[in-house]
Amino acid sequence: MSLINAENVTFEYIRRDKDGAVEGINRAVDEVEIAVEKGDFIAILGHNGSGKSTLAKHFNALLHPVEGTVFVNGYDTREEDRLWDIRQTVGMVFQNPDNQIIGTVVEEDVAFGPENMGVRSREIWERVVQSLKSVDMYEYRKKSPQRLSGGQKQRVAIAGVLAMKPECIVLDEPTAMLDPQGRREIMSAVTELNRKEGITVILITHYMEEVLNANKVFVMDKGRIAMQGTPRQIFKHADELKEIGLTVPVAALFAGELRKRGVDIPDDILTTEELVKEICRSLRII
Ligand code: ADP
Ligand code: MG
Repeated sequence: MSLINAENVTFEYIRRDKDGAVEGINRAVDEVEIAVEKGDFIAILGHNGSGKSTLAKHFNALLHPVEGTVFVNGYDTREEDRLWDIRQTVGMVFQNPDNQIIGTVVEEDVAFGPENMGVRSREIWERVVQSLKSVDMYEYRKKSPQRLSGGQKQRVAIAGVLAMKPECIVLDEPTAMLDPQGRREIMSAVTELNRKEGITVILITHYMEEVLNANKVFVMDKGRIAMQGTPRQIFKHADELKEIGLTVPVAALFAGELRKRGVDIPDDILTTEELVKEICRSLRII
């Protein structure tokens, strides 16, 4: 059984005028099929308005499909009496850390989720320590979140979700408001959570470089899944990605341009290291 199974999921926002009459229907998610297995690192890529956030909100029952079904651990997200289990299984992290942090001290903020769940106080503090350590923020536990950088705040927000012991975390453009340093911090924290602690990750982003660690990438366009595969499979298709408003990582782009100019280089280059190695090989430098 998959951890999350989205079967033929369609969602529509209904626009109404001031009298409540239907003005128009906006199909934000259109017949999406996604299976998320335990331990996956899934990336969902797409330009603005392609339906990523709408889809993400289906994974922990913040939205329900108008057609199709979402199953979390086998439970239909429409089952009201499973809502608690579903929300505990799949935690959400959003774009703006300021909207997610409520405590005035880091450790209190992280404790808030498990407290609300009725976890015993001794266990709460064990979870707080462990969660802060796993995002490398333990030494800031007594600090005020207000005094932290964007990347640090976002790591505290992630710790707050981890303290609820989810099996899966969905991060909806968690780095969008961060500087490059903050982005790197979040990406390494998320990658570690997946690799070392086995937490299933669904990362939503429009930064190409952030999907390189994923084992499966889904590319969304106009509410549909336009492409899916490993990062290597996806980034071979630079021209199709460009058509739907996306670019490929700079190393892949460069490799593609060199190939067009007749340089003998593989078509599935992802990183700068690979690119340099292949150029050297091609030029017989090494
Ligand atoms: P993304 O996260 O990829 O930017 P969204 O899921 O936010 O995409 O939006 C998908 C589509 O749904 C867009 O056309 C957007 O304008 C529309 N949309 C998003 N939220 C709402 C809403 N609350 N009411 C009406 N339309 C919405
Ligand atoms: Mg969004």
